Amino acid sequence: DLRAARTGRFAPSPTGVMHLGNARTALLAWLHTRALGGRHLLRFEDLDVGRTRPWAYDLTRRDLAWLGLTWDAEVVQSERRERYAAALGRLDTYRCQCTRRQIAEAVSAPHGTEAVYPGTCRPAGLPPSPGAAVRWRAPDGVVCAHDSRLGTLCQSLSSDIGDFVLLRADGAYAYHLAVVVDDAEQGVTDVVRGEDLWPSTPRHVALQQALGFTSPRYLHVPLMTDYRGQRLAKRGGAPSVAELREAGERPERVLASLARSLGWDVPAEVSAAELLTPYARNLDRLSKNEGILHPGER
Ligand code: GLU
Repeated sequence: DLRAARTGRFAPSPTGVMHLGNARTALLAWLHTRALGGRHLLRFEDLDVGRTRPWAYDLTRRDLAWLGLTWDAEVVQSERRERYAAALGRLDTYRCQCTRRQIAEAVSAPHGTEAVYPGTCRPAGLPPSPGAAVRWRAPDGVVCAHDSRLGTLCQSLSSDIGDFVLLRADGAYAYHLAVVVDDAEQGVTDVVRGEDLWPSTPRHVALQQALGFTSPRYLHVPLMTDYRGQRLAKRGGAPSVAELREAGERPERVLASLARSLGWDVPAEVSAAELLTPYARNLDRLSKNEGILHPGER
């Protein structure tokens, strides 16, 4: 059965409470997997130890369960460091001790912009040492990512991005490496995630190619914004799912408001399963290249 061969995932970083914006991405990822009849994973992206909050794992599980967004298996990235190490060992990398400042000076990037890493320590051949980051020698040529909603994005990694960090100086494996290894090893066929990650996707595709992995299908969904058009963020005082739950709100009303924020015409209360029908219609439209899922669009 081809349909059962599909796997999707929701991959939160357990760094704080889940706000409505995260919940909408979680909902869309779940709807997408389930509409395809696939297996759904919950993956905790907790490699950044300094930002991880131990209580956030359970809170996320409770929030998702309350919304009815079930999962079939759970993955915790901090338990998989040997897998990332193994992948890193297969890539052409080098140690780098340059500071952000040195890099910025070498390229005189305009203030406030992220500099393209110019390969400052490429030739140095530093021996492995603690306190040095590991960078991937970005392959030459153009790499393209494809998204069901956003189309194609091509980048020349060497001139647009530069050699990027795969293992940070503090010993943390970079998100870019971990996400690629995990999606491949967990058989993920369909990635639904926030649009903020779309510019990173060519880097993921390049890593997939270098490691011999098949790229999943991507669907980047818009981030939820407030009435000013600003992204709902944990720090911006956006309501958290836990707050709503504890205030006695009904999950069906929260789900309805998430669906309505996408422009879907739904009753004031719906279950996650009841949203599968409107979502399947959207899937249809996606396959016809009609940009959907924009707030307010019908
Ligand atoms: N952990 C990322 C986030 O919370 C999502 C990464 C992904 O879905 O690839 O924004």
